[in-house]
Amino acid sequence: MSQQPNHLVERMREFETSIFAEMTGLAMSTGSINLGQGFPDYDGPQAVLDAAAEAIRGGHNQYPPSVGILPLREAIAAHEKKYYDLDYDPSSEIVVTTGATEGLAAALLALTETGDEVIVFEPYFDVYAAGIGLSGARRVAVTLHRDGTDPSGWSLDPAELEAAVTPRTKLILLNSPHNPTGKVFTREELQAVADVAIRHDLIVLSDEVYEHLVFDGLTHTPIATHPGMHARTIKLSSAGKTFSVTGWKVGWACAPKPLASAVLGVKQHLSFASGHPFQVALAKGLAGDLDETRRQLQAQRDVLCDGLAVLGYDVIRPQATYFTVVDVKSDALEFARALPARAGVVTIPMLSFYDSSVGDTFVRFAFCKRPDVLQQAVDRLRDAK
Ligand code: PMP
Ligand code: GLN
Repeated sequence: MSQQPNHLVERMREFETSIFAEMTGLAMSTGSINLGQGFPDYDGPQAVLDAAAEAIRGGHNQYPPSVGILPLREAIAAHEKKYYDLDYDPSSEIVVTTGATEGLAAALLALTETGDEVIVFEPYFDVYAAGIGLSGARRVAVTLHRDGTDPSGWSLDPAELEAAVTPRTKLILLNSPHNPTGKVFTREELQAVADVAIRHDLIVLSDEVYEHLVFDGLTHTPIATHPGMHARTIKLSSAGKTFSVTGWKVGWACAPKPLASAVLGVKQHLSFASGHPFQVALAKGLAGDLDETRRQLQAQRDVLCDGLAVLGYDVIRPQATYFTVVDVKSDALEFARALPARAGVVTIPMLSFYDSSVGDTFVRFAFCKRPDVLQQAVDRLRDAK
């Protein structure tokens, strides 16, 4: 039989199959509990859902402006001021995107090109690698080390970050709270990143989609609040995460005008604009209580982490996000591919979050699921032991 031609451009071939698509496919074909892809199995706040339905019925169904509707940009500006004392001008410094994913792609395409280098912290969300690949830039990974002495369980070595910088480095892609480790970078760590960025005149693309999903009384600090950082930082958020509506695919980028304009310059040619009725709903939602989801999620984290620990898994209790990492002490890809048939549970092997082989034995479990579903997953894992 003749081979099918592969039309995909060379630079995207290494990203051809996403591990999320493979594992969610496995979950569906085996009827497993999907603790792989990070999406909640519950809905967001009723008032926000109602507002979207009302917006559809109210005729907000045509293209909104590329940059996003003004009431949402005003609500985002008020949110940044209220939570972080950050000032962004809604007329020129906020761009609504089709999920944070588009914000990432637009920023990477707008700011980097062939020959540039982008620093990422591994393990990294796999979309970063694809976005950097699309722009033609090269990613340079700095490893977060698994470290039992660090309160987050993972540590950053500032000397390794400094050593990763070359004359071609253009941008640092920071993610705190961090997927997949659940680490919240400390002020000292953020200052270390800021020092490197300022010393080498780098832009920081700061993915803060889990900004409201932080546990145990910890607080999220945007790196843009550090001295000298506002001018060089693009801060990304996701309504999907903040309101448990991942299917809405609305996010936003906040940055000083020159950076925001660059992001918009590309975004307008990717999606042109993002879901109009959702923007109307989110403008209302941002003024509401953003803490409820966090409280529920912390309890869900405890159900899963306590359950896994009792089963003897080497699990680190995450400080934030939807995820916990487990070291299965064997080939993680084999483990993850076998688990659905063996236990009826799906997880994500972390190989595609690493350039190095450090993550070969790590899998990621998502706990953004109802407590009874998480308990059922733990029971299934126990029965399969
Ligand atoms: N950044 C991180 C760290 C993520 O985990 C995700 C996954 N949702 C995204 C960005 C993408 O967010 P969105 O769904 O809003 O595109
Ligand atoms: N951010 C989610 C996760 O990490 C979804 C990823 C995706 O499907 N692209 O699981």
